[in-house]
Amino acid sequence: MDLPRIVENSPFARLARLKLGARTVAMVLGRSIHLSGVTREEFLRDPFWVAHEMEHIRQFAQHGRLGFLVRYLRDWVRHGYYHIPFEVEARAAAERDAHLYAAGRPLPAPAQRHPTPKANG
Ligand SMILES: [Zn+2]
Repeated sequence: MDLPRIVENSPFARLARLKLGARTVAMVLGRSIHLSGVTREEFLRDPFWVAHEMEHIRQFAQHGRLGFLVRYLRDWVRHGYYHIPFEVEARAAAERDAHLYAAGRPLPAPAQRHPTPKANG
């Protein structure tokens, strides 16, 4: 499974992390996954999280950089973070696709998974 470029200690992800008050953030910009508060290795250890971000990569490719960002921010204002359709899709994709990124290991137990933010993140 080809992974996109992963950027550790990303200033963009750090801004998002501070804004959201989250301990760790992964965010997709174009075809890259930007991390803050988490190493590449830790991120890749959670196949649910990887599958979630891979769905955002797909959404970015489908809608284009501007189309994605405009919809994302519009829907955030309209519906709140948890109900942004892109996030709803990404959570469903995580459940559906995690096995693709498990690298032959058993899927992590719920307590080992990156928590899904309820309000932010
Ligand atoms: Zn997401």
